Amino acid sequence: MSTKIAMLWILIALWSLPAAASRLAVFVSVAPLRYFLERIGGEHVQVSVLVKPGHSPATYEPTPKQMAALAAADLYVRIGVPFEDAWMARIASSNPALIVIDARDGLPLRDMTAHHDAAGKRSRHGATKDPHIWLSPPLALKMSTHLLARLRAFDPGHGAEYEQNYRRLVADLVQLDKDIRKSLANLQRRDFMVFHPAWGYFTDAYGLQQIAIEVEGKEPGPRSLTRLIDSARARGVKIVFVDSRISRKHATTVAHAIGGRVVTIDPLAQDYLQNLRQVARILASVNG
Ligand SMILES: [Zn+2]
Repeated sequence: MSTKIAMLWILIALWSLPAAASRLAVFVSVAPLRYFLERIGGEHVQVSVLVKPGHSPATYEPTPKQMAALAAADLYVRIGVPFEDAWMARIASSNPALIVIDARDGLPLRDMTAHHDAAGKRSRHGATKDPHIWLSPPLALKMSTHLLARLRAFDPGHGAEYEQNYRRLVADLVQLDKDIRKSLANLQRRDFMVFHPAWGYFTDAYGLQQIAIEVEGKEPGPRSLTRLIDSARARGVKIVFVDSRISRKHATTVAHAIGGRVVTIDPLAQDYLQNLRQVARILASVNG
């Protein structure tokens, strides 16, 4: 290769660097938010998830490396998961220019489902409002509309692209909602059990009921467990959901007692559309 051509390549490489560097640095609390930000922001955003895979959004502590990256970030999208209570002020003060977007703005929030014995007491979530809004596709659509508006306001130069990406996302969410409704149309049983009651918006959207195993964010004691088994029997529950972050022990005990099945699902999956279709399919196959 001649020196001239080599120089040309170096120039091209240098010239293309600022394009990559000019992507907006966006941080989000949990992985599903990355899905929505990436769908709308496309190639103009670089989205990082604060709560690492396998960690709990209730107790997460950002690493020093993450705090350093946050100090140079453009946007932060929060959604009300419990670790935010302890960390948002610190994150904001480490980067006064950081724009914090609350994905919940303007959305009708439900109360966090508590175990029937624990009504009125504080759950693992501390605050009483349920942060798992993404698990309802109709609500996720409203959330996306809000995220689009905020992204456009921050970066109007790419507004038309964001709008176009958003329209594609909306089409997918509408289709997802239709597919889930179809899967769940003829269920014999509309109740299921779940260790952490993350599925309240999902059950509200599709006429289902979740029964939480955890009590105030903790594993149930023997008396609570007996009561849970009784109520699961009375309601004909056949399915006990867990996620991979927690022990299957209590779920297995309950499932065994009621002749049901333990199935692992993930409320924090980043592959959003596929994940919710999968949950609907499981419900249809066990409760159908
Ligand atoms: Zn949760």
